[in-house]
Amino acid sequence: MTVGRSYARTDPGRKRRGNEDAYVCRPPLFAIADGMGGAQAGEVASALAAEALTDVQANGSGERRVAALVQEANRRVHQRASTDASTSGMGTTITVAVVEDDGAVTFGHVGDSRAYLLRGGALEQLTDDHSLVAELVRRGELSPAEAEVHPQRSVITRALGTDPDIDVDTFTFRAQPGDLFLICSDGLSDMLDRDTIESILRAHRDDLESASRALVQAANRAGGEDNITAVLFEIADDGRVPAGEPDERTREYAPSFVDEDTLHPEDHVLPPPPAPAADDTMVVPVEAIEQAPTPEPAEDTEPEATLARKALALAVIVALCALIVVLVLWGLAR
Ligand code: MN
Repeated sequence: MTVGRSYARTDPGRKRRGNEDAYVCRPPLFAIADGMGGAQAGEVASALAAEALTDVQANGSGERRVAALVQEANRRVHQRASTDASTSGMGTTITVAVVEDDGAVTFGHVGDSRAYLLRGGALEQLTDDHSLVAELVRRGELSPAEAEVHPQRSVITRALGTDPDIDVDTFTFRAQPGDLFLICSDGLSDMLDRDTIESILRAHRDDLESASRALVQAANRAGGEDNITAVLFEIADDGRVPAGEPDERTREYAPSFVDEDTLHPEDHVLPPPPAPAADDTMVVPVEAIEQAPTPEPAEDTEPEATLARKALALAVIVALCALIVVLVLWGLAR
């Protein structure tokens, strides 16, 4: 079994100035990294992790090899974060898939990026989010519906780069010809529910480029709150894409596996971006969830707007009162 077509697309979304997502689309290796950290550190973290996946020669095969790749990516991000003060505390998610010669797809996963499979028209989520809300759902303390709108849904419990060692989820999936895999950042999966992603992929099943465009458009229409990245790859129907013949679009796209805007040298002389959005990703170790109360609710921009509206209403009332007083005084004076 071989990899069929593949396509990747990334978009900053509508609320973020930069793009802290990075991806790899080099058959048979596919990955997403969603960086976090102040200033441009998130971009550094995700780019370092994506690069590590492509230039490390990990020994072995299957899950052992994927785990070694992710460990090396973690080591590089952590090393940089510990030696370069400007990137201190940075981290990144990683979700990587390798299509093996025997038709298995091996996954490695840390954080809240996701892998999905479309098979027979039905979409299935393959990865478990390492996030606070997913943890609370697994414990039965939160319903999936509550999790979707929870103010702390961006808080993750595991990230690459924050510790010298990382606990990597690995698993092997038996692929079938015609399977379509999607790896995406939370900028996509937070904006679109499973049914919406499924119907978009079904509608564009024959054209992965238009499928990725439709996914990004839909996420932007739903708010585009975060950077949006989708990597799509399929397992070839036998004989459809001869082995060893690379897909042209994939070839063109592959070298720029990190969003070009992301690490443009001029970025560094630009003024720092606005304060990170309220729901910016942070990491809380899963052990901390039990004892510690959930972290301070992220400050939302909503209360500010409400406050402004309240202030305006108050000003109008004060003005009206003043007018009444003036009118009454004027009336008394006559
Ligand atoms: Mn994100």
